[in-house]
Amino acid sequence: MSRADPRPELAELAAAGLLRTLRPLDSPAGPRVVREGRELWNFGSNDYLGLASHPALADAFIEGVRRHGAGAGASRLVSGTLPPHGALEDALAAAKGMEASLLFSSGFATAAGSLPALAGKQDVVVLDKLCHACLIDGARLSGATIRVFPHNDVAKLDRLLGTLRARHPEARILVVTESVFSMDGDLCPLREIVDAKDRHGALLFLDEAHAFGVTGPAGMGLAAELGLQDRVDFQMGTFSKAAGLSGGYLATSAAWRDLLVNRARSFIYSTAPPPALAHAALAALGILRSAEGDALRGELRRRIDLLCPGHPSAILPRILGDNDAALAAARNLEARGFLVPAIRYPTVPRGTARLRISLSAGHPLHAVEDLQRELAAAAR
Ligand SMILES: *Cc1c(COP(=O)(O)O)cnc(C)c1O
Repeated sequence: MSRADPRPELAELAAAGLLRTLRPLDSPAGPRVVREGRELWNFGSNDYLGLASHPALADAFIEGVRRHGAGAGASRLVSGTLPPHGALEDALAAAKGMEASLLFSSGFATAAGSLPALAGKQDVVVLDKLCHACLIDGARLSGATIRVFPHNDVAKLDRLLGTLRARHPEARILVVTESVFSMDGDLCPLREIVDAKDRHGALLFLDEAHAFGVTGPAGMGLAAELGLQDRVDFQMGTFSKAAGLSGGYLATSAAWRDLLVNRARSFIYSTAPPPALAHAALAALGILRSAEGDALRGELRRRIDLLCPGHPSAILPRILGDNDAALAAARNLEARGFLVPAIRYPTVPRGTARLRISLSAGHPLHAVEDLQRELAAAAR
């Protein structure tokens, strides 16, 4: 069969239970959605606080368009830096207890652009085994030597860093991990990782995508929760999850930010995010840091504790193993009125296909209780 024909590859994916297809939602993305004419409780989004449908954010977006226009027109370095971009970066850096921050179009663009700016072929990037695809791709693009440590295994990381430092005395060694892992919902042992990287003169790049807005004081993340901002060199995050919008950021020192402005290709060669988006993100940051933000995090906590008391994040995996089993479980839940995605390889390792339940402050308690009943019945 010719490589010019994509169909054999699609057939192979389908045969392995790995084919993905797009299914439109016929409603705004919220806790209750309409898909193919049916109403479903949506347990498949990362909108942990319900901000994606918050009226104040919609208003801020519209106000941003009225004030600043629909688009930025160019890359930030050319002519695209508008007042809300700078205002958001300053507010975010202050909120996170960092010197500076830099915005990107998405979390993916943040990782894919900043990792190659921070490490080169003479350097080493050390990733947790379960790091998100954008971190892996950013590390690959850097051309650095790549090493992987077993998920959250600090003893192995420490040994690996010792070996690497002895072999590469002058190299920049960048440890990359996530504060809340996106498909497992567990936390990294941040304090121990920070100690290890400091022992070996390495730098730490922490992806707070699923912690930003949810974890720590005012939702400012795991580094803030543990008071480790000063020792986490790079805090990455996104406005696409708990902040309800889109757009990525990297918070760091002023000097590192200057280097990124000069070297991060997804920043340099890409049109700035719409200024209205930055304006809305500033409003989202305001909500996250307000009493309303605290109340929403409290509501989210109640829902997490209903399904899994004490669990550290809004992401609850139910690992089933087999691709077809995960797909069948998702189909059954959908027939019962619940949208819960089946997650398969390569998003998760082979043999660990799962349902990924994500909770939101916007879910009514009765919907969470109903889901719990369905999950218990399915497990019987
Ligand atoms: C979603 C996600 C990203 C990408 O963020 P986007 O803004 O959606 O591009 C990066 N890292 C992790 C861990 C994520 O889960």
